Formats: sequence, C-alpha cells, structure tokens
Amino acid sequence: MMCHNYYGTSFFLYTHTRNHPLHPPQNHTMDLTIEHIQQRFQHFNQLIFGSSLHPLPIRLSNARTFLGQLRYHRQRSFWGKTRYSDFLLVISRHAATTPQLLDDTIIHEMIHYHILSNNLKDTSSHGRIFRQMMNDINTRFQRNITISHRTSPEAHSSSDTTIYQHYFCISRFADGRLGITVAAKTRIRHIAIAINRVPEIQSHQWYTSTHPILNRYRRSLTLKVYLITPTDLTAILSTAPSPLTP
Ligand SMILES: [Zn+2]
Repeated sequence: MMCHNYYGTSFFLYTHTRNHPLHPPQNHTMDLTIEHIQQRFQHFNQLIFGSSLHPLPIRLSNARTFLGQLRYHRQRSFWGKTRYSDFLLVISRHAATTPQLLDDTIIHEMIHYHILSNNLKDTSSHGRIFRQMMNDINTRFQRNITISHRTSPEAHSSSDTTIYQHYFCISRFADGRLGITVAAKTRIRHIAIAINRVPEIQSHQWYTSTHPILNRYRRSLTLKVYLITPTDLTAILSTAPSPLTP
C-alpha cells in the first residue's frame, strides 16, 4: 500500500475553503441516558429475541475506543464446563451519534449476551453463530450491525466484544487518483485542516462508519493519504458510511 505523508510540508496554494468553524463532531451525545438504553434493550428483546434475555445492569461510558461492550465473569467448573455470569452492558456516549448507530450497537452486544447466556458454543467471539444471527437480524429488520476487530494499539486491552467508530476522509487528487485517510479521533480537526492545504487534492469528503473494512487502514495522527482503487472506494461506500463535517 502506498502512503503519501504530508506531514511537515507546507502548502500555500489551496482552493477549497470551509466557511463554518471547525469543531469536533458528536458534541450532542451527552443527553444519552441509561433509561433510554433500557427501553431500547426491552424493545429489541421483544422484537428480536422473543423476550428471552434477562434485564442486565447498564453503564454509560465516555470511552472513545469502543462503542459498546458486554462485560461478564467466566467460571470454569471442575468438569470443564464454562459458565458466564454477572453480565454488564456498557455503552459509550459516542454511540449516540445517530439513533441507528446506537440501536445497532445495543443489538450487537445483545447478540453476544444471547450467545453467552445460553452457553452456545461459537467458533470465536464473532464466530459462525454470531455472524449468522447478525446477518439474519440485518435482513429481517433492515439493520446495519457490523463486526469490528481490534484496530488501534489502545484497543488491545479491550475485550473482544468491542466495536469501533472509524473517522475517515476520501480524497480525489487532481490526476484522478483516490486516497483514504483514517484519522485518530483526537486528530480529526488537525488532519482536516491539513487536507484543506494540499493543492493536489481536488475534492474530499469525511465519513464515519463502524464497518470492519476500515480496520485495514492504520489510524493516522498526522495527514497520511493511502492510495485506493475505485473498487476499494466502491466497497467502502457500499457500507453506507455517514457523512461527517469535521
Ligand atoms: Zn462484538
């Protein structure tokens, strides 16, 4: 994969100006409440899981490294039987970017909860059973639940039941080549300013998505544009990322 690193280069020529003040996205997520998550949990429990899931404690988090997490204790008996208990659902306030993302995050964790609390033996944490349920729910209820894998170094300490929010920018160069920049969340503003100063970039658009297709790109702290093919672009855009205005 080719990488164009624009760090440390100064450009004085640029044509595309943004008129609104730059601000980090998702400042409107603070009114998310535990009661709301409880209601959504109940709703989907009825709609999707036949009310089979027991209510569980819910906690809000300000974490930026995950959107949702299912925490639990695992006990192994003398006979090698595994038992899961003390389930806790943790939802990051950053999952409330859109109602759809919040619901998808809750359902994603509910699938884990269903599998573990019924002691179903899956092939991995997002194994065959998980994927089958996820695909089935996506089709039946027109949802967009996704799987994410470990991406950034800070994510390695998180549990497997974690999905990530990616922030990325698709750039089109004057000569027609396409590029992608996946930004670390804390660096979006910095990188957005930097992209605006690259004369070779004719147009660009920011997006946010949880789709695992984006896991293959390293999160940048500075402006790095990875060249992608039109096929890559089609694949990325077919995941219906939400446009973002950094
Ligand atoms: Zn998961």
